[in-house]
Amino acid sequence: MNVYDSARMADVLARLGYTPVDEAAGADMVILNTCHIREKAAQKVYAELGRLRRLQEDKKKTGGRMILAVAGCVAQAEGEELLRRAPFVDLLFGPQTYHRLPRMVAMVGQTARAVVDTDFPAERKFDRLPETAAAAAAAFLTVQEGCDKFCTFCVVPYTRGVEYSRPVAAILAEARRLAVAGARQITLLGQNVNCYHGASPDGEEWRLGRLIRELAAIEGVARIRYTTSYPADMDEKLIAAHRDVPQLMPFLHLPVQSGSDKILAAMNRRHKVDDYRRLVERLRSARPDLALSSDFIVGFPGETDDDFEATMRLIKDVGFVQAYSFKFSCRPGTPAAAMETQIPEDLKEGRLASLQELLKDRQQAFNEGCVGQVLPVLLERRGRHPGQMVGRSPYMQPVHVDAPRSLFGTIVNLRIEAGSANSLAGILSTAVDETCSERAFA
Ligand code: SAH
Repeated sequence: MNVYDSARMADVLARLGYTPVDEAAGADMVILNTCHIREKAAQKVYAELGRLRRLQEDKKKTGGRMILAVAGCVAQAEGEELLRRAPFVDLLFGPQTYHRLPRMVAMVGQTARAVVDTDFPAERKFDRLPETAAAAAAAFLTVQEGCDKFCTFCVVPYTRGVEYSRPVAAILAEARRLAVAGARQITLLGQNVNCYHGASPDGEEWRLGRLIRELAAIEGVARIRYTTSYPADMDEKLIAAHRDVPQLMPFLHLPVQSGSDKILAAMNRRHKVDDYRRLVERLRSARPDLALSSDFIVGFPGETDDDFEATMRLIKDVGFVQAYSFKFSCRPGTPAAAMETQIPEDLKEGRLASLQELLKDRQQAFNEGCVGQVLPVLLERRGRHPGQMVGRSPYMQPVHVDAPRSLFGTIVNLRIEAGSANSLAGILSTAVDETCSERAFA
């Protein structure tokens, strides 16, 4: 979502005459769009600000000015503290106010203090933003934001604010513009994207399954994905969309967090382990080749060896093809940070290492299993070597291939020649430009 937000900030700034550059050195403005989800992400901001301060001073020496801005959830959550530690920051704003950038930029330099806007304004930024100008072959589109779930470990409700769904008409219009600008894949974004319930032109509230069917009808949209989903919000219609909509890719990121009911309850998740297992079964009967990914937190307060083993068992049983896993990180102001049963750092580290080894084995086995198959791959970016491009399979695996640049942004059939833990390598089979119809892992 930060990638999406950054692109929208660029749209706003384009109106003021700014254009994006690749290097911070010499720029007229640098915006750090920050993440507050774990302590490590937040710490990075301070390290990066130290580096940018030097560039800001260099620019000053040449008689210029570099406006240094901090955006996103660290700005939202730590605004005052951040300005105390980094008084050279000119501009500070949260995820819900970047449509006001023209006004903020105009105010920079008028006072000694930084310009700050960390409101949760009554007006919606989406109603004020200019239209998206450019689109990548694989584009993002925010449909839902914020969260009311209050998982005890999580800062999102405090930084992104309450849950909100954009109206259907605005989403369809944005998707059409993206398709015209060359997007072949649209990834629908939301902190809890599958609790989407937006007002539609027919007067009814649409849930995500209905929205996806409508998006699939837009010419040029060959692939649809959505992330991130909350297990308890997965409804029948969305599951049915996995069966009926060929453009909906057979890959789903569905964070479970833990395989222990006791820990899930302490996290205030609204699902039990068996609910999750049953949900996976229902999804797989709708789409037999569905590849699953997840998020795991290890070392949540009170997690015993047995709780951790239950998580390992769940991983073995479900067979995730990739996953993100984290040590529990104490976030200021969240209930879990105040729990007395905190787990020592070295125990967390040991558990994380075992869990990641297991996940990596599964990922490698899945990737190796693809060797010999022909997979449709959307070529999204240039690779490291000359003539190389990188794309994504339907199952989200990065695939490397030598291909002419004219194929950039198209979907090609690749014969998979090699699979490692993190990616696949393929060669061009017959070039096609259509949706994934092969059910390679049925
Ligand atoms: N809405 C999704 C979560 C998205 S946040 C859900 O409800 O499942 C992205 C991931 O960051 C979470 O799934 C979680 O695994 C991780 N995370 C969030 N807060 C964390 C914390 N305090 N410590 C460690 N990991 C955390």
